[in-house]
Amino acid sequence: METLGKNICQRCRKSIHRLADFGSYLDGTINTEYCHNCYSHGVLVNNEIMLVSKIDNSMATP
Ligand SMILES: [Zn+2]
Repeated sequence: METLGKNICQRCRKSIHRLADFGSYLDGTINTEYCHNCYSHGVLVNNEIMLVSKIDNSMATP
């Protein structure tokens, strides 16, 4: 558990090298499963880009 060499965020697959880059639980405990971009204060952060483009089947113009 002391090995802090290679940690990869289970969500975005980004390698985490520093303690500050880890996610944190609500009580401040470090969550080594995720990075701070994905998991913060006990909740998974939804940082995915919302694609609002409508998918139409109008690509084939007659
Ligand atoms: Zn992440």
